[in-house]
Amino acid sequence: MINKRMQGLGEARSVIREIFEYGNRRKREIGADKVFDFSLGNPNVPPPAVVNARIAQLIAGEDQTSVHGYTSAAGAPEVRRAVADYLKNTFSVDMTEDYIYMTCGAAASLTVTLHALLSGGEEVVVIAPYFPEYRVFIEQAGGVCREVGAAEDFHLDLAALDSAIGQNTAAVILNSPNNPTGVVYGEGELRALAALLARKNAEREQPVVLIADEPYRELTYGAQVPQLLALYEHTVVCYSFSKSLSLAGERIGYIAVSPRARGAAQLYAAVCGAGRALGYVCAPALFQRVVASCLGQSSELAFYQTNRDLLYGALTEMGFSCVPPEGAFYLFMQAPEGDAAAFCARAREHELLLVPSDSFGRGGYVRISYCVARETIENSLPAFRALAKSYHL
Ligand code: PLP
Repeated sequence: MINKRMQGLGEARSVIREIFEYGNRRKREIGADKVFDFSLGNPNVPPPAVVNARIAQLIAGEDQTSVHGYTSAAGAPEVRRAVADYLKNTFSVDMTEDYIYMTCGAAASLTVTLHALLSGGEEVVVIAPYFPEYRVFIEQAGGVCREVGAAEDFHLDLAALDSAIGQNTAAVILNSPNNPTGVVYGEGELRALAALLARKNAEREQPVVLIADEPYRELTYGAQVPQLLALYEHTVVCYSFSKSLSLAGERIGYIAVSPRARGAAQLYAAVCGAGRALGYVCAPALFQRVVASCLGQSSELAFYQTNRDLLYGALTEMGFSCVPPEGAFYLFMQAPEGDAAAFCARAREHELLLVPSDSFGRGGYVRISYCVARETIENSLPAFRALAKSYHL
């Protein structure tokens, strides 16, 4: 017997992964330097030196057994304390280790949080365009994925959110800095959303929870990322070190439940219960200890910023229209004739591998990941120029 839903998820390859696999095949055919793969969001800047120094220190230390052993299910107490202290001191918010749960990255933070919140049939609002796995995670937790379009500038459309959020809304997922648009939500719009939710909550028994999906928090180029724990009491932060410390394959992150949330202790217990039911046991023990020493740090942002400036400057100069990227490492570019799939197919003829925006719940754009080698961007510009020319830009 096979679960058909799981089989379907396994067989329906992610569009992004498919492009990435095509890129690898194509590189073998014509040479790696002739294919410009902008598909994946895999950090290509090494972790800051403190990461490797801490790993070396931990594995050379006296505590050879427990450093690789199970930790408490929620995480090693000293690690949870370090995370709580960091959040409290950096953002002036209430936090203790009793509300921190260490996870295997943002994906696990999200699936655990959604399982903790949903009993079956509730809606979870996502802002389109959105990270495609949200739908998979929400539906697996028994919820309904409710897409609400972003405003024209890809910031929050508060009127659309107002009409979409109803009695059956359990949560809203916010991702800032945003994948795929690179937008960073400002304090004004977030305060307005918090006020909107407070108004909705007055008519409800259970408040709407804000899920702050923050794997890109540190990756900004000047913009401030407001801390939602400070702006809205019913917030759950789903954090990850995958992008900030270039540790995507090591699977490490955390959940921070706002102690001010209604029923915060019960919600945190449900987080622990969901982690248990999903079989996570505990987050990777070595990397829990590593990240506890690297809180708030990031890989070399200047590298991504130079890539961003180079690509954004060149593409807009060629006549393409792009959302000005303020954070993360993605450029969201309009498909000149509106058909993202057709544009990607033509780009592929020039060996440019771009991701059509349809898989993010919004047509007419492509996502370009600029966490790539500098030469990939520099060498791709003639191909982009030829592509622009073919559209008479
Ligand atoms: N959320 C968003 C918006 C992402 O872009 C990603 C990864 O690309 C994730 C969550 C998952 O991150 P992690 O690798 O930490 O599980």
